[in-house]
Amino acid sequence: IKIKITEVPIPVGFAAAFEGERVRKEDMFAEFGGGRTPAWELVRMRDMADVEDHRIEVIGPDIDTLAPEGGKLPLAILVEVAGKNMQEDFEPVIERRIHYFLNYIEGVMHIGQRDIMWLRISKSTYEAGFRLHHIGEALYAKMLDEFGNIIDKVQVKIYTDKEKVIKLGEEIAKPKYEARDARLAGLTDESVDTFYSCLLCQSFAPAHVCIVTPERLGLCGAVSWLDAKATKEINPTGPCQPIVKGECKDEIKGSWDSINRAVQELSHGATKEVNIYSIMENPMTSCGCFECICGVMPEANGVIIVNREYAGMTPLGMTFGELASTTGGGVQTPGFMGMGRQYITSRKFLLAEGGIKRLVWMPKELKEALREKLNQRGKEIGFENFADMIADETVGTDPDSVVEFLNKVGHPALTMDPIM
Ligand code: SF4
Ligand code: ZN
Repeated sequence: IKIKITEVPIPVGFAAAFEGERVRKEDMFAEFGGGRTPAWELVRMRDMADVEDHRIEVIGPDIDTLAPEGGKLPLAILVEVAGKNMQEDFEPVIERRIHYFLNYIEGVMHIGQRDIMWLRISKSTYEAGFRLHHIGEALYAKMLDEFGNIIDKVQVKIYTDKEKVIKLGEEIAKPKYEARDARLAGLTDESVDTFYSCLLCQSFAPAHVCIVTPERLGLCGAVSWLDAKATKEINPTGPCQPIVKGECKDEIKGSWDSINRAVQELSHGATKEVNIYSIMENPMTSCGCFECICGVMPEANGVIIVNREYAGMTPLGMTFGELASTTGGGVQTPGFMGMGRQYITSRKFLLAEGGIKRLVWMPKELKEALREKLNQRGKEIGFENFADMIADETVGTDPDSVVEFLNKVGHPALTMDPIM
């Protein structure tokens, strides 16, 4: 028998209304991930016999060991599910919900995904008696509640032991993330006849619609085309719906009548037209959970990209946070756009504006993480070691030093058609 759980047994509130709540530094008791400690989250499928339903384990110190003043801990959240109708393809779909379910907890803030997740627990939530196993309780209840049609059993392991977090991250999580990405590698936008819409973020950005294609994943970085397809299979009337492409109006801008019709309907008329490969002309809207922001840098005739983890200044004179407040909210902001990390090295990246050749600046850490793919993409368009032609904060964060560097390395953006 399946019991539908509606109550979540935790000592603080649990509701979608808490989703947009921030936990500021002053109010924070415990912090995990976000570049401060190693952290990751994963949902994986196991055999029925390997999952003990409702088993919740905390392996390592709990947050009360941080008392009285609070502090940081490493964190791994491993959710193991089993079910007769479960498929491996569904793992990332269920995993994406960790973000939503943890944000439903009063005084808990979750940002990011995979091994760039970032979690904060507030002082008042800690004082109310909230401990790490409550994370497991919330996930257990909501996962069965929402995915009861595909999963029968759920167990949650929460690791805070640094060695285990790192070791299991290498052994279990990373290979999973890589395998998921690899499955997408052979797919192009031309090779499929259907794209997907995703409306998951309309809960806080009511007019926002993501169009998810094989070569452009959702801007949260957590919904690939395969994930959107699996979401539709799991929940036929759910947040991801197919859009049969039909005839393409403009292959360079990425314009289809079918997409425009879908966006108009799904945004309730707020957005009329979207060119999915353009940042300047009818770009896709941005909700708020983008992994990166791309913005035009007029002085360099190109674009910069900044990732959420980078706290410093950018050559646009704004930090990630400042850019986010003008980019988000589900409206079109030509010249600024949220995007998933993987889109940066897609062959469809800003195709309308000339592609990767426009990329002039990005934080060093992001550049290093993407170096191999950036160089590979560069090579395809005739540039060796393209990553080294892209400026970063060690070159400078003021337009003058960036442009000077671009001149020195002969960056292609300087001689392209004006971007605006
Ligand atoms: Fe879906 Fe886009 Fe939100 Fe990701 S950012 S969950 S793809 S609507
Ligand atoms: Zn979002």
